[in-house]
Formats: sequence, structure tokens, C-alpha cells
Amino acid sequence: MDLVDPFGRTIRDLRISVTDRCNFRCTYCMPEEGMKWLQRSDVMSFEEIERLSRIFVERFEVDGLRLTGGEPTVRAHLPRLVAKLATLRVPASSSSPLAGRKPDLSITTNGATFRLLAKELKTAGLDRTNISLDTLQREKFEQMTRRDELVRVLDGIEAAKEAGFSPVKINAVIERGTNDDEIVDLATYGRNHDVEVRFIEFMPLDASGHWMNSQVVTQDEIVAMINEIYPIEQVPARGAAPADRWRYLDGKGMIGVIPTISKPFCGDCDRVRLTADGQFRTCLFATTEFDLLKMMRAGATDDQVAEEIQRAVGMKWAGHQINQVTFVKPRRSMSQIGG
Ligand code: SAM
Repeated sequence: MDLVDPFGRTIRDLRISVTDRCNFRCTYCMPEEGMKWLQRSDVMSFEEIERLSRIFVERFEVDGLRLTGGEPTVRAHLPRLVAKLATLRVPASSSSPLAGRKPDLSITTNGATFRLLAKELKTAGLDRTNISLDTLQREKFEQMTRRDELVRVLDGIEAAKEAGFSPVKINAVIERGTNDDEIVDLATYGRNHDVEVRFIEFMPLDASGHWMNSQVVTQDEIVAMINEIYPIEQVPARGAAPADRWRYLDGKGMIGVIPTISKPFCGDCDRVRLTADGQFRTCLFATTEFDLLKMMRAGATDDQVAEEIQRAVGMKWAGHQINQVTFVKPRRSMSQIGG
């Protein structure tokens, strides 16, 4: 049965945060110190993640599961979770292109330890990987992530390619005055290393609450800067994916831009999220959460959990209100929600 919200959007994509912990402290996401971590006992076990995923995939025909965090690779034995999720099957009767097959399994990672994990994750059934990389300059990398790990992240990207992930995508959050001078350099990196760079507009989900609209470098600005050096043309039909995409006219790959602020794409949103502590969210910017973990631990049946999921999706917003005065920033920051 499809999971359809009041605006007729069918939910197909579930983002699962497997931990709120992270080995980086990116300035646009986390404070340097003072994060209050979840208690281990409050974090979903692999069995609980698998049970919820099964309900989403096998009952509601969700055909994409993305593991995120925090930093998903700091969760011990991650390949075991991937192997469990790889046993799920989208119902054969579904209208999904993956009907009768396993859902698309992907990860968003900072890549710092991907050299150690890439092959095992691939073997376990992971299909795709997005690696975050906001700058190619070592000092700026340390400034933005508060970790001197650029070399390991670049190696993690190579490891992902060697393990057979294709395409490998790069997530680059662009912040005016910090790394907007590197937009073309990042595009060049993507062209030279055969990876698709996706530029992300800076969102008001930083833990420090310092986000200002003036720090957002818009999609139009990003595209114009790249087009001046490497002519590009837009690829039509984004569908439900968050990124608009352009191809280089010389055939050397693609870029994507996620224009959350300047051109919200909520009308096409097919995404829902589970935080590491099992709270169900129907929008990245939602201010209401539904405690599925508590329900499960109190003995709820799959039918009862499924009903709660439907109730929550029945309240999914038409769209975020970031550009309105009525916008209320979520209580939790990006690393606590799961980007
Ligand atoms: N640790 C992993 C990583 O670095 O990719 C996964 C979690 S991270 C929260 C997921 C994505 O959210 C990353 O690509 C990160 O750059 C992005 N992100 C975090 N804070 C953001 C913000 N305030 N605005 C836009 N993107 C943000």
C-alpha cells in the first residue's frame, strides 16, 4: 500500500539516522563542544531499525533507504545492518521500478574512514554513497570540520570508487564568505575525479543558530559561476530527488544543486526520516516527532506502528516555511535529525 500524504505526495524514501555521534564537528552543523549525546539505550538497535524498515518497505512500498547520522560509519558493525536491510523486498505488486527487488540502499558519510569500510559495505549490499566535501584546502577543511582530515576524506572518495560504488556523489555545503570561492575548484575536482558534486544551499539547521539568509549562496549564483568556466545545460525532470542537475557540454559529467532555500522543492518531496532515537519526522524542518521506538518497546504490533506512521504522514506539511516570518527552527540540529 502506498503511503500518501494529504497533498498527494507518495512517500518513497526513508532516511535513517543510525547514530547522533560524529567524528567531525562541522561548523554549519555542530558546536565544537557541549553536544549532548543520546544514551546508548535510547538509540535504535539494528533489529529495531530492521523492523521499522521492513514496515516501510514491505507494507508501504518505500524503495529507498539512506543511512545517515551523525556519522553513520562510527556506528559499530554497520555492514551487518546493511546486510539485514538488503534482505528486504519491495512488494512485487508495487508500482516502484524496484518492485520485487531489494530497496535502493545508500549512505551519506563524511568519508574519513571509508577506506576501511567501503568494500565490506558494498559486499553487504550498499548501492550508493554520498561523501561530504566542502573544501579542497587543508586549512579551510580543518576550519570548517574542526578536524585535519582532508587527506583521509579524499582517500575515502577513491576507496568508494575502487569498491565499485557508482556514481559516487560529493555533498558540498556552500556558505558565503567561507567556501564560495571554491565552487569552481570543487566542480573541477568532480570533473577530474569522475564524481558528481552536489552543491547544497546552507540551511538553518546549524546547532549554533547563527544561520543567516545572507550566508546562503543560491542555486542561480552557483550555476552562473560554474557555467562561466565550464558551460553546462540543465537536465530536465528532477522528479522527487532533491537536486536539480546540469551536464557539462563537453561531456565531462554532471553537477547537482540542492536549492532548499532559494527554490524549495517541497512539492515533489517523497522523503521521511527516522532519528537515531526512533523519532519519525515527516520533514527535515518538522517541529513534531512521532516516537515509534517508544511504541515498539512498549509492545506495539506492526499494525499499530504502521497506523502511527500513516497518522504522521497524514500531517506532513505542504512545505517548509524558511523564507517566511512564521518559520520556527527545529529544536534539533542537522546532526541530531540526520541529514
Ligand atoms: N556525517 C555525514 C556527512 O558528513 O555526510 C552524514 C550526516 S550530515 C548531517 C548529512 C549532510 O548534511 C552532509 O552532507 C552535510 O554537509 C549536510 N549538512 C549539515 N548541516 C547542514 C546545514 N546547516 N545546511 C546544509 N547542509 C547541511
